[in-house]
Amino acid sequence: MRTGLLSLLLAAIALLAVPAQTFSAKTVVVDAGHGGQDPGAIGVNGLYEKSVNLDVAQKLKEQLIQRGYEVVMTRTADEYLSLAQRVEQTNAAQPSLFVSVHANSHPNPNVSGSLVLYYDSDYPQDSYPASEAMAKLSPESKKLANLVLKNIISETGFADKGIVPSAAYVIRMGQVPSILVETAFLSHSGDAARLSDSPVRQKLADGIAKGIAAYLPLPDLFPDLADHWAREAVLRLKDKGLVEGIFNRYEPDRAVTRAEWLALSDRLFKFADRLHAADAPDTGYPDTTTPKEQKKAETSLPTDQTEAAQAPSSPPELPESASQGQASPLAQTPPTWANRSAVQSETTAAPKPASRTPSPGQPQSFKDLPKSHWAYETFQNAVRLGYMNGYEDGTIRPDQPITRGEVTALLERMTADAGNSPPWTGPADFTDVPLKHWASGPIYRMKQQGIITGVTDKTFAPDKKMTRAEMAALMDRYVAAPK
Ligand SMILES: [Zn+2]
Repeated sequence: MRTGLLSLLLAAIALLAVPAQTFSAKTVVVDAGHGGQDPGAIGVNGLYEKSVNLDVAQKLKEQLIQRGYEVVMTRTADEYLSLAQRVEQTNAAQPSLFVSVHANSHPNPNVSGSLVLYYDSDYPQDSYPASEAMAKLSPESKKLANLVLKNIISETGFADKGIVPSAAYVIRMGQVPSILVETAFLSHSGDAARLSDSPVRQKLADGIAKGIAAYLPLPDLFPDLADHWAREAVLRLKDKGLVEGIFNRYEPDRAVTRAEWLALSDRLFKFADRLHAADAPDTGYPDTTTPKEQKKAETSLPTDQTEAAQAPSSPPELPESASQGQASPLAQTPPTWANRSAVQSETTAAPKPASRTPSPGQPQSFKDLPKSHWAYETFQNAVRLGYMNGYEDGTIRPDQPITRGEVTALLERMTADAGNSPPWTGPADFTDVPLKHWASGPIYRMKQQGIITGVTDKTFAPDKKMTRAEMAALMDRYVAAPK
């Protein structure tokens, strides 16, 4: 079995190259009107427009993110921004579209309802010229305005005041289709009362989001991969049941956690089957890993990784982590991977995994791996198989990011017999992977075999966190390799 796996490895498993990072999804700028010293309109019930705007904008942001859009907010607090600053922020975000959220006011207290403003080059105002781009975008902005208004009306039941050509600054000076939503009239007692009601604000946000989705549709599955370089790879793996999203998102540019990497490896290599194969001849132990347990170990990625789920909007990591002052877990302690004794592993053959394999019935205890952890069984099996060890401080760090170096070493460990991992004696082409690097063996062997490449010709970035997109690309290559 091991020989077969090794040949698979040699066949061209994996690609650790990092293609140019591209913006992964359609971005919407959400602008909450007014703020700080500028309250906007003040309602007949005392409600401040700036507060309603911000709450609706934040609810809209949540709606859009759930649908798979990237969202940039011009403000997230009660602060003053000039109109020019809002447009500058918008241009800098290079979004697909811009939506500004306001509430209206009219001298006549009987005027009520929703309306949506957009710039229309058929109704130019000489004193308020539009940007060159916006003048040409009128048909797009108008289409967006119509779709958003229609959905607001159907969600909220506010009176339909129609779409209105306007020279308002924020919808006139930008570079992308732009609208300004006047949700309802704070000068109207009925509208104002409804605007103070959180469920109504939610309906407003839902309506605006539906309108945006109608204008700018995203794929149903993993919309955050819409234009991503790794989309095809992820979808192939999804087809095979090897990867899962988080809700409906894949979060391609988020660092993959050790648990996520291990879960994917387990789905592919079937740790429980390997344990069974390894144990049965020697011990005659009954297989303690029942099919049910294995199923549990292979369950999909967690849906409640709040910590991880909040990370995704951070920009993709550059090969910097070594110099960032954030020490790799492997730099502080002996290698995570079983049988690898840091530098020593370069000069001595690693012992057989079995020599450290606890008996199947005795799970190891790690401080940060409670039985309730979604990947508990997977980690236990990986430890039993000798793929992974805990750290000296008694942790195994399931929810920490995993680095490119760690993945490379672990993949070799899972695909090759430990005895087939001799020290590497050179050449050491990557300036950041000297021979004494703990993972130089796996890295240079896989490079030699054409399995991985560096982030540049000269660097591998072994301490860089692997992203979920890179994980998918790597496994896609592995799965596609001739068997
Ligand atoms: Zn306003």
